[in-house]
Amino acid sequence: MVGAGTMGHGIAHVFAQHGWDTALLDVSRAALDQAREAIARNVERQVKKGAVSREQGAGTLDRIQMDTSLEAAGKADLVVEAATEKPEVKFPIFRELDRLAPETTLLASNTSAISITTLAAQTGRPAQVIGMHFMNPVPVMPLVEVIRGLETSDETARRTLEIVRALGKTPVEVNDAPGFVSNRVLMPMINEAIFCVMEGVATPEAVDTVMKLGMNHPLGPLALADLIGLDVCLAILDVLHRDLGDDKYRPAPLLRKMVAAGRLGRKSGRGFYVYRD
Ligand code: NAD
Repeated sequence: MVGAGTMGHGIAHVFAQHGWDTALLDVSRAALDQAREAIARNVERQVKKGAVSREQGAGTLDRIQMDTSLEAAGKADLVVEAATEKPEVKFPIFRELDRLAPETTLLASNTSAISITTLAAQTGRPAQVIGMHFMNPVPVMPLVEVIRGLETSDETARRTLEIVRALGKTPVEVNDAPGFVSNRVLMPMINEAIFCVMEGVATPEAVDTVMKLGMNHPLGPLALADLIGLDVCLAILDVLHRDLGDDKYRPAPLLRKMVAAGRLGRKSGRGFYVYRD
């Protein structure tokens, strides 16, 4: 598992819970320390709810090692990359993983919108590169969008679908296109909600209440944007805008401004809402 942020620690948790020996790797020691705490907290919540026994919870934590180098990829059957959503971060990681990992290892990315075909082209094994797009929060959400790049082999897709099912999740196979299906549909809704706030049509609370009570969404689009991370939302909208070449995907200026100010949502304590713990 490469990247120990919001998604990486959740993905590591789910693999370890299903018996996989998992290495959680991040360049930031602080991110690893926070990930350890977050996983312990989430395991504790599962134990309290009776979803797993105390022994199973302890087993999950024991199966996760943490490191600041990528060397552990040298022993992996599968690497899932969930580092920062920037090509200049992900491309070198894929080149390095291709160098380190055994020939048979599958290289998967949790990217929200970066082309799987382009990530695969960084490696000498494009047939073994695939998108494994988990949803946030990973231990709770049942969907994994499985994205086939142009060169992804049938065997890689088959193994990936099998792994996703063994994790107790439901895979949906889609082809490589900007934002895949999930973000192609979700992000324009979030962006439009931000335009409503920016133009003074309604407050964030009002927008979210309309969508929760009127459309039966469990979370309003702005609360969801805070959960995803406003920087991640902006990065995805930039990709949709550039790669689909249609101005209907242009990110709301308010979103850009909030990211510039460091209001990234839950992870920074403030986005459209304020988070105290
Ligand atoms: P995040 O910012 O919380 O975490 C990213 C982590 O990557 C950080 O801990 C950072 O230190 C680490 N990192 C940066 N460069 C690295 C490198 N060279 N090697 C190893 N680690 C490195 O981001 P996130 O929200 O967890 O998103 C991670 C990926 O998952 C992105 O591609 C994002 O688009 C995708 N994603 C996010 C969500 C979401 O709701 N946040 C949902 C689905 C997919």
